[in-house]
Amino acid sequence: MPSKQRDSRHHSDAPGGPVDRIAELIAPLRVRPGTKVRLPRDFDPGHTGDLVNKRAGAELLQRGVAMLADYQARLAAEHRRGLLVVLQALDAAGKDSTIRHVMSGVNPQGVRVHSFKVPSAEELDHDYLWRYAWRLPARGEIAIFNRSHYEEVLVVRVHPALLDNEKLPPSVRTRDIWGHRFRAINEFERHLSETGFRIVKLFLNVSKDEQRKRLLQRIDRPEKNWKFSAADLQERQFWDDYQQAYSDMLSNTSTEWAPWYVIPADHKWFARIAAAATIVHALMELDPQFPSPDPQARRELAQFRRALEEE
Ligand code: ATP
Ligand code: MG
Repeated sequence: MPSKQRDSRHHSDAPGGPVDRIAELIAPLRVRPGTKVRLPRDFDPGHTGDLVNKRAGAELLQRGVAMLADYQARLAAEHRRGLLVVLQALDAAGKDSTIRHVMSGVNPQGVRVHSFKVPSAEELDHDYLWRYAWRLPARGEIAIFNRSHYEEVLVVRVHPALLDNEKLPPSVRTRDIWGHRFRAINEFERHLSETGFRIVKLFLNVSKDEQRKRLLQRIDRPEKNWKFSAADLQERQFWDDYQQAYSDMLSNTSTEWAPWYVIPADHKWFARIAAAATIVHALMELDPQFPSPDPQARRELAQFRRALEEE
């Protein structure tokens, strides 16, 4: 009997098979560690790879979602590693709908989604990573951070007044503060990866024009009115500052152990495929296995079987 039980239903490694297809699709989206990124120049929000439309991508998405469900079951059964999915984006880039679609096939017991908002008074009384550490996945789990510790070098950087709320001692609040944060975040993630937790970081990259269209839809369509927030318009005024903060973040925190993927988000259907593919790819590399019983456990199982048969 093989020691590793492999289910080859979804992931045949044949050339041109889904495994190759996924690797090919996500390769151009990866931010190579050490490269300097400049947005919007370096990544096209309208990119759709070699897929021409939603219909062409439908089968791939369906397959990705099925593979995710299968891998999630293995991850949970194996109970050794965990997966953290970090989702960052500007408003109306589609974080919520991406989560909904990509995770649609997964057992809800194995996945936790946490949305990070403006920090509470209690959270501000701790170091800035505290509230994120608290929500990390356990072994066997997938956790999704809808916004994440990266807000600490994005919104806080664009609005330095937010730093005042963080009650930092003056000696810590130096001109190097963002460099220090990049380093601390990289080390935090390295620690996680060295203790069995894989990190997938997705930046949903929407264009300024597409954001405008989506905000208009939120005003024009009654069923979307609830999503409209005047704060989103306010933040849109800081578009260029955000592009710069994101560029610097991508340049400084894409590492071998936790690389960033820039997901083109102007076409929602493609963003979903790309996000699913990136997560599946990470799980494929982890390749979690259902535990196989040792000989002693197998003998016991055989005894239980006999007992049940003799009833
Ligand atoms: P939605 O799609 O529902 O609008 P959202 O993630 O935009 O989702 P909101 O409640 O609209 O949720 O906004 C949360 C706000 O909290 C964002 O503006 C974000 O920048 C802000 N925020 C998140 N983390 C921090 C932080 N560490 N410091 C300050 N502000 C933060
Ligand atoms: Mg919002």
